[in-house]
Amino acid sequence: MKRIYLDHNATTPVHPEVLEAMLPFMIDQFGNGSSIHTYGREARSAIDDAREQVAALINAKSPSEIVFTGTGTEADNYAIKGIAELQHSRNSGNHVITSSIEHHAVLHTCHHLEKHGFEVTYLPVDRYGLIQLDDLREAVRDTTILISIMHANNETGAIEPIGEICEVAQQHGSPVHTDAVQSVGKLPVDVQALGVSMLSLSAHKIYGPKGIGALYIRRGTRLENLLHGGSHERNRRAGSENVPAIVGLGAAAALAQKDRETSVEHLAHLTNKLRKGLHKHIDRIHENSKPEHSLPGTLNISFEYIEGESLILRLDMEGICVSTGSACTSGSMEPSHVLAALGLPPQLAQGTVRFSLGKDNTEAEINEVIEKVPKVVEQMRAMSPAYKRSSKHVGVK
Ligand SMILES: *Cc1c(COP(=O)(O)O)cnc(C)c1O
Repeated sequence: MKRIYLDHNATTPVHPEVLEAMLPFMIDQFGNGSSIHTYGREARSAIDDAREQVAALINAKSPSEIVFTGTGTEADNYAIKGIAELQHSRNSGNHVITSSIEHHAVLHTCHHLEKHGFEVTYLPVDRYGLIQLDDLREAVRDTTILISIMHANNETGAIEPIGEICEVAQQHGSPVHTDAVQSVGKLPVDVQALGVSMLSLSAHKIYGPKGIGALYIRRGTRLENLLHGGSHERNRRAGSENVPAIVGLGAAAALAQKDRETSVEHLAHLTNKLRKGLHKHIDRIHENSKPEHSLPGTLNISFEYIEGESLILRLDMEGICVSTGSACTSGSMEPSHVLAALGLPPQLAQGTVRFSLGKDNTEAEINEVIEKVPKVVEQMRAMSPAYKRSSKHVGVK
């Protein structure tokens, strides 16, 4: 059976041109970027090219502001722990502000800081996952050393007002870090226009390989290193560079920059079609973001009287691959912290599915999804005593 992949916020397939760019660095050009002979110089120059491609994608002033990391998760850890450790050693404050809907890479790093004497404020969000600037204004203090708020949420697609957040932060002199792993390639991500001091991204969310990410660090932003060892990455991240992966990230960044506008148009069109199709054929469903404040391609929907994990397994049998929330929480029965922060009651949170579309999805695939999802939902609800009771009550057929 041909499968329909609608889980691009979890990961994307590697673009053939990305693979092609990477292959030579796994075969003939296997040099270590630190060696001074020809093999080493080839690797070094490939790493430098990739750094320029990533810098161009996010409009960094200089490629030297880009540090390659092992993953997007590592970039988040590096930004937050790096600032926290440095400011702690200077006694300049111990307060960090983040949001309650961050990816675990940020959230659990903040929990870790709390165990080590830092104070963390987790800003609430509204029903559609948006931070309120007044909450931020109230939370900032003289001791606030870092504000880390994601650019776009991986579960619901909610887009946070990073530009405005940076304006508030600037009045207090606090640096802003943003996890832009989901927004890169889908939104215009311009570090200068946004005003952030640090920004994380990851290759495998933009048709690059897994196991490579990058942290943008604005020139003049000081932070402690996470990894210690050799003098790689201008003394910022020790360890021999993963050259093929770095080349892959560079190629993926270049493609993301070149294709973003056409890709976004395609994603917006298909997502809209899916949204309308599901609303037309299924009652008692709820969207968990506002389309105008949400990533093109992400549709997060709560189905009343449905158990999300069962729906996902049933859809998988139909060849449709979607997910409940972030990949990291699936398999655990705990409702997602993101949906809880939106104020969804646990039962509705359990009945939530994320459709995340990609550039290769087609109109025909979306038509098939619009045809199959309502059937499966109907079958599942037909077996639910609670649904039958409630339908009788409100007169739903
Ligand atoms: C996927 C993701 C990450 C983690 O990136 P990895 O490269 O998989 O470690 C971090 N933040 C967000 C918002 C993500 O979607």
